[in-house]
Amino acid sequence: MAGSREAAIARAEGCFDSGAYLAALRRLVAVPTESQMPGSLPALTRYCAETLPALMQGMGFDHQVLDNAKPGRGPVFVARRIEDPARPTVLVYGHGDVVRGLAGQWSDGLDPWQVTVKGDRWYGRGTVDNKGQHLIAIEALRAVLAERGRLGFNAIVLVETGEEQGSPGLREVLRAHAGLLAADVFIGLDGPRQTTFMPEMKLGARGGVAFDLVVQLRDHAHHSGHWGGVLTDPAFRLAHALASIVTPQGRILVEGWTPPAIPPAVKRAIDGLVFEDIPGLPEPDADWGEPGLTKGEKIFGWTSVIVLAQLTGHPDAPTNAVQGAARARLQVRHTADVRGDAIVPALRRHLDARGFSDVQVIPVLERDMFGAARTDPDDPWVGFVAASMARTANRTPNIVPNSSGSNPSDMFQEELGLPVIWIPNSYAGCNQHGPDEHALAPLLREGLGLMAGIWWDIGEKGGRP
Ligand SMILES: [Zn+2]
Repeated sequence: MAGSREAAIARAEGCFDSGAYLAALRRLVAVPTESQMPGSLPALTRYCAETLPALMQGMGFDHQVLDNAKPGRGPVFVARRIEDPARPTVLVYGHGDVVRGLAGQWSDGLDPWQVTVKGDRWYGRGTVDNKGQHLIAIEALRAVLAERGRLGFNAIVLVETGEEQGSPGLREVLRAHAGLLAADVFIGLDGPRQTTFMPEMKLGARGGVAFDLVVQLRDHAHHSGHWGGVLTDPAFRLAHALASIVTPQGRILVEGWTPPAIPPAVKRAIDGLVFEDIPGLPEPDADWGEPGLTKGEKIFGWTSVIVLAQLTGHPDAPTNAVQGAARARLQVRHTADVRGDAIVPALRRHLDARGFSDVQVIPVLERDMFGAARTDPDDPWVGFVAASMARTANRTPNIVPNSSGSNPSDMFQEELGLPVIWIPNSYAGCNQHGPDEHALAPLLREGLGLMAGIWWDIGEKGGRP
């Protein structure tokens, strides 16, 4: 039956079955868009100015390439199809850049810039992070256009090329083009799902703040026999300062670092999550961290602090001396319930109150390394998209209140005021930042159907929740 929801979903899945999706993916993966490599700008620009326009040709989108104001950083591709300003507008997000290809390190000599199909696994750099995922969104749009003759809503496809570097300049691009990018909701396809067997939504990200703790007492070391016990040892001062931050079981003691409580809607979403045991991954240590919280609450609803590195003297060749300095780098990850810019001042107060004014706290960056964001799980758009996915998949999706990792949710929330919804189509074993990155073919096919269902439903009369 033409012109139906079922037909649009079948058409999107048919694009997978016919090999058209794979052929398009090959063209995207072939562009070495390694944003972390110097000299990548021509490839990033080509992806935006040639590869994506060719992919979307004939879909009735007008496109442009927005320059990044930060020197040497990749541009942002924007394609818009405005059918009726009275209808809702969806901003569809993807990123065209990839991490380094690491050619030569892949199993069996696999070429990162070619898609190699081995059973259900499709190998190639960007197959899941993120080319294969924004391709799902675009092919599903194409399927709905073909079935309905129009989308029934307005779509803005935005593909940035700096995500693997923390999206430098993206915030400024969003701010400068806020009118062009005005929308009702953000839907981004990226990241792994918690399970291979359930569709999923993520509603934001935890933020990350990094800083150094430095005890700098003297310019150089002094003989440990003549000066030990007389000169203050910076390593012990640092160790005691560190020990004041968490209990021996890892419970955070710094006032202001943890949420007063996990908001009820967030707790409900976390408690409803289904996890999958992936062989080879560690088991959580039940007695580490905030007592009384589940694993899900600890990583999606609470704050964590990690010592990333710690140094005194020369561990590979110690000298018999009282060292002059000691330092450690820490990282705090926090939900939207804690302000990122409050982390360092709170620690300063904590240390001063315990007599550690000799321990300096030096932020690594002015702002958060990445900001925290979370769309309310009770937001009407969340319920609308979840219902659409449930209708297509015949089971309720996992709703993750925020990713435990990072993504640029905060920029879209803060600069464009959008509810942020991520729909991941990969899995935890996909090796997305190492050699052997691969997609799972059944998840790609399922994603095409799910997205066609979502696009169809938004375009239905009354598609704005
Ligand atoms: Zn990535």
